[in-house]
Amino acid sequence: MKHNFGAGPCILPQEVFQEASQAVLDFNNTGLSILEISHRSKEFEQVIAEAERTVRELLHVPQNYSILFLQGGASQQFAMIPMNLLKEGGKAAYLDTGVWASKAAKEASKIGQVEVVASSSDKNYTYIPKNFEIPADADYFHYTSNNTIYGTEIFQKPVTNIPTIVDMSSDIFSREINVSEFDVIYAGAQKNMGPAGVTLVIIKDELLGKTGRTIPTIFDYQAHIKAESMYNTPPTFAIYVSLLNLRWLKAKGGVAVMEQENIIKARTLYDEIERNPFFKGTAAVEDRSRMNITFVMDTPELEAEFLALAKERNLIGIKGHRSVGGFRASVYNALTLTSINALVDAMKEFEESHK
Ligand SMILES: *Cc1c(COP(=O)(O)O)cnc(C)c1O
Repeated sequence: MKHNFGAGPCILPQEVFQEASQAVLDFNNTGLSILEISHRSKEFEQVIAEAERTVRELLHVPQNYSILFLQGGASQQFAMIPMNLLKEGGKAAYLDTGVWASKAAKEASKIGQVEVVASSSDKNYTYIPKNFEIPADADYFHYTSNNTIYGTEIFQKPVTNIPTIVDMSSDIFSREINVSEFDVIYAGAQKNMGPAGVTLVIIKDELLGKTGRTIPTIFDYQAHIKAESMYNTPPTFAIYVSLLNLRWLKAKGGVAVMEQENIIKARTLYDEIERNPFFKGTAAVEDRSRMNITFVMDTPELEAEFLALAKERNLIGIKGHRSVGGFRASVYNALTLTSINALVDAMKEFEESHK
């Protein structure tokens, strides 16, 4: 058995892979593949309707929010957010907690004025800035709830009364959230929701249509809302596989149950990182992520050797991002405690053999 700690595209439950492969051969006894059915067919309309319903149910999304399944990844949202929400002559506030957060701000600065309210780039994004001020006259405030590369996470929404936009690509569905605190939530599916190719956007309807800007239709949220995510051909297979994963999550008991498991999984690994003299965490303890756990070795020269042992023990995808180094264990919903224990065992084994 392989233990896939890859940061994304991510591990999904085995039963999701099995059902998805069956649907490639014969979707719901139609005699057709899910890959060849029309996105306008009754069968696919049911898929996308159930996907929307299940997102709404799992995250308790209020009725005045629309749910979209778009293409272009979270990176396209970096541009769509300011196009749709940054008013002509207005400004937007961004919190800089990592590469993705900073890319989002950079895209917005091509559309209008951007104020970076705080940054942790001075310490290679190992912590979350505190006590910053969000200008009350900005059109919106944007932040990244989980910094996939650096292993930090913001669990509490920073306090502000202006519309708040959050990139939840790598922690959506990992913990309970109160959707009504936010105005837009977006997430590239491939971190914790499904395969690459689809991006979930949850957006408060009343926010739209106020910029005074003409927006190309493909980038216009209102056009996608009106067409119910079918303005153009949606990524049908990615939506279908996401639905299978959301059904799996619902059958497990939903996000609250998942959150409890994720707390235990993360604690198990952090405990070993703290206990084991060969390893140390890179993120500030109070800001540590539950989804991406970053750590290095006290003796960097030993890292290649530990990676080799990890490979032997079928621990896949634990090499850290090049901007942090060391290791990163992404412990998304579908990764089990069994896999965490396999990694912990390898760390203990390494310690024993180097005493
Ligand atoms: C991976 C990631 C992105 C980029 O996602 P794409 O879908 O590849 O554009 C953006 N934000 C966060 C937090 C990510 O983890």
